Amino acid sequence: MTTVIANLDFVKERNISAVYQAIVDHGSISRIQIARQCRLAAGSVTRITRQLMEAGLIVEQEQQTSERGRRATSLAPRQGQIQILAARAGRTKLHLGLCDLSGKLLAEYSEPIQPLSQVEFTKQLIASLRKFLKTHKKHIRCLAGVGITTPGLVNSAKGIITFMPHLSVSNLPLAEQVSDALGIPCFINNFISSMALAEHHFGVSRGFKNSLFVSVHNGVGAGMILDDKLYEGSTLAVGEIGHIQIDPLGERCYCGNFGCLETLVCNPAIEKRCHKLLASGVPSLLNKSQTKKADILAICHAANEGDQLANDLLKEAAGNLGRAIAMSVNLLRPDTVVLAGEICAAATIIHPVIKHCLKTQTVSINENLQTSVVYSTLYDSPWYGGFTLVRRALLEEGLLLQLIQ
Ligand SMILES: [Zn+2]
Repeated sequence: MTTVIANLDFVKERNISAVYQAIVDHGSISRIQIARQCRLAAGSVTRITRQLMEAGLIVEQEQQTSERGRRATSLAPRQGQIQILAARAGRTKLHLGLCDLSGKLLAEYSEPIQPLSQVEFTKQLIASLRKFLKTHKKHIRCLAGVGITTPGLVNSAKGIITFMPHLSVSNLPLAEQVSDALGIPCFINNFISSMALAEHHFGVSRGFKNSLFVSVHNGVGAGMILDDKLYEGSTLAVGEIGHIQIDPLGERCYCGNFGCLETLVCNPAIEKRCHKLLASGVPSLLNKSQTKKADILAICHAANEGDQLANDLLKEAAGNLGRAIAMSVNLLRPDTVVLAGEICAAATIIHPVIKHCLKTQTVSINENLQTSVVYSTLYDSPWYGGFTLVRRALLEEGLLLQLIQ
C-alpha cells in the first residue's frame, strides 16, 4: 500500500513539474500543446494548470491565432512570482545573488570569507544570507530555495560537504543547517559541477547532450554532463582532471602525487613560473611594474600585446592543459569542452594550442564530429551555479509540489 502511494506521489510530482517546465520553457503555450508535449490526457492538463494558476505561478493569456482571427487561450509563467537565492562560498570570497526564475539577477552582494573552522564557516554563511534577504525583501514574493556551491567534495543527495581544500570539515551537514536557519529548502553542490550544469541549461553548452566543463583557477577541475545529466559518481571525487599526471618527475602536488596538471597549469603555478623567469632577467613587458607582482590577468594581457615571455608561458600551459583535455575527450567524447577561468582572457593564444592537442592526441572519427572548444559565458556570474541547483530541483525534482501544497 505504501509503495502504491509513493508511486502515485511520484507520478503526480513528475506530471506537475513537466507541465510547469513546458510553460516556463515556451514562455507561452496552449493546453493542447502541453498535453502533446508531456503526453498527458487533456483532463490531467486542465487539472494541473488549474492548480498552478491557483498557486499564482501561471496566468492565462488571450492570443489571436492566424486561423480566421480566432482567439485562443495560452498559458504563461507569472513573471517575477518565484525567486531563488544563490551563494558561492569560495576560498576567500562569499558571493550572494537573488534571481528570478529566468536567471535575471535582482540583487547581489559579496564579502571576504576566511573561516578557521566549519562552525565559523556555517555561521558566517547563514548570517550573510539572512542579512541579504532582509535587505532585499522587497524583491521577494515566493522564495523557492537557496542553492550553495563550494569547492571540494559535496554529497549533493545528502546535503553534506565531506572535503574542502582550504578548510578542515567533518561531514558538514550544510544543507540541513541552512535550511533550518532560513526556513527554505537548501541545495548544495561542488562549484565546478554546478557551473557545468549552469552552462548546460543556460550557457554555451546548451543543446549538447554531453559536455565537459574545465575550470582553471586556484586549481584545475572538471564537471561532466553525460546524457543531459550531471555526472556525480558514487564517491564524489569525479572530474579531478587537475590530478592527471603530466610530468612523472615534476613537483609534488598537495594530493601527494608528483607532476599533476595542477602543479603546472593553475593560476598560482603559472604566476610562480612567471615570477621566477622575470627574476632571472628574462625581458618582458611584465617587468614594468616594480610594485605589483604580475598576476594571471596581467600575464594574459601582456601575451595579447605580443609579449614573448607571457606568450611562451601560456602556450606551455595550454599544451599541458590540452593534453589532459585530450585524454578526457578520448574517454568521454563530449560534444563540446567548455573552458573557464582567467586564462580564457588569452583565448586567442591558448585556443590553437588546445585544438592542436585534440587533433593530434584524440581518435579522429570525422572532421565534422570533432569535439569543439568553447569559452564559458557564465563563469563571471558566481551565483549561476547555486541558482541552477534550485531551478533544477523546482522543474525536475519535485520541489514545485512542495511549494504549491
Ligand atoms: Zn595532484
